[in-house]
Amino acid sequence: MDSFFLPEEKIGEFTEHLSRFGKVYRYEQSSSGARLRLLSEDDYGKYSFPEIRAAEPAKFLFIKAKRKLAEYFDSSWKTIAIEEEPKVIIGLKGCDLAAIKIWDNVFRDDEDYKDPFYISARENTLLVGADCTSAGENCFCNLLGNKPFPAEGEFDLSISPVDGGYVVFIGSERGKKALDGFSMQNASQEHLKQIENRRNEILKALEEQNSKYKTSTPYRELVEKNPESPAWAKHGETCVSCAACTYVCPTCFCFQIYDKPGPDGKYERFLVLDSCKYPRFSFMAGGLNPRGRLVERFKHRYNHKFFHYHWRYEQYACTGCGRCIENCMGKIDMRETLKDIEKQEQSHKQ
Ligand code: SF4
Ligand code: SF4
Repeated sequence: MDSFFLPEEKIGEFTEHLSRFGKVYRYEQSSSGARLRLLSEDDYGKYSFPEIRAAEPAKFLFIKAKRKLAEYFDSSWKTIAIEEEPKVIIGLKGCDLAAIKIWDNVFRDDEDYKDPFYISARENTLLVGADCTSAGENCFCNLLGNKPFPAEGEFDLSISPVDGGYVVFIGSERGKKALDGFSMQNASQEHLKQIENRRNEILKALEEQNSKYKTSTPYRELVEKNPESPAWAKHGETCVSCAACTYVCPTCFCFQIYDKPGPDGKYERFLVLDSCKYPRFSFMAGGLNPRGRLVERFKHRYNHKFFHYHWRYEQYACTGCGRCIENCMGKIDMRETLKDIEKQEQSHKQ
């Protein structure tokens, strides 16, 4: 993979160059942790590199929380124009990029359904990845087979901090084109070694902190074979259905579609993101609600991420980013729930 050295003082020029592609969003360190910001020209040169992923996932830059899909009954259906503005997102960590792949499977690459809104947003977004430079206490990407740095094939460009600046990796033809006309020297062996050493250190730290949560049975099997485990009620009992976990989750995509009367006697159709944690998530027209009980909704989220999604796409719909752990009012830790399901299963067999 081609790699170049970007001196610290050239970060402004680099960002300005990428802004030719589109509006620039960048993950930056702030006093309240890493945040996603839309930059103005004045901000390009002021970069504080975040150590780990931010509170905000990037998903709302691909699908708006609420969006009009159609207008009817007119003399004909009105097609809603898809006007996606080109944009650049700088600083996507390995878990953020893995989450985009999870959405690609559903909205772009699935033969049964292609979402034109998502595809347009995706085609108009330049993905610039970034290494993690520490292991966050809630991060467990390693348990899901992900890494604390951008994986090949998932980014257009990526940046890794080194002494005196950054190494920029080219990950796609689009990334290469976005850098056309911007001059940088090749990265040195010393820079690449520095990156390799840091990546290994962080992986080791993640493995150490998450070793107590490691299960010997794969998550899919644990969730599929233990629908009656007492662990569901035990870990779900502090859930207050606030839906923070699904809101911050970079992979949660459940939505609902509804129609409402619009102007001039017409109707409008909207899509809004939904959450399986809301009591009426599975409510049916006849009044039946198979997930009326909180424990059923709690279990459903694990079922979707670790069983159903895996059954369909052969990967988990969780990247191990730990945002749901960090933001849960009920102090629920997904790693503990999964580990406890295994413990309960083992004690049941004895
Ligand atoms: S964030 Fe925690 S309390 Fe809120 S819905 Fe999710 S699991 Fe329940
Ligand atoms: S379920 Fe939790 S850990 Fe997994 S991707 Fe969503 S927020 Fe991250």
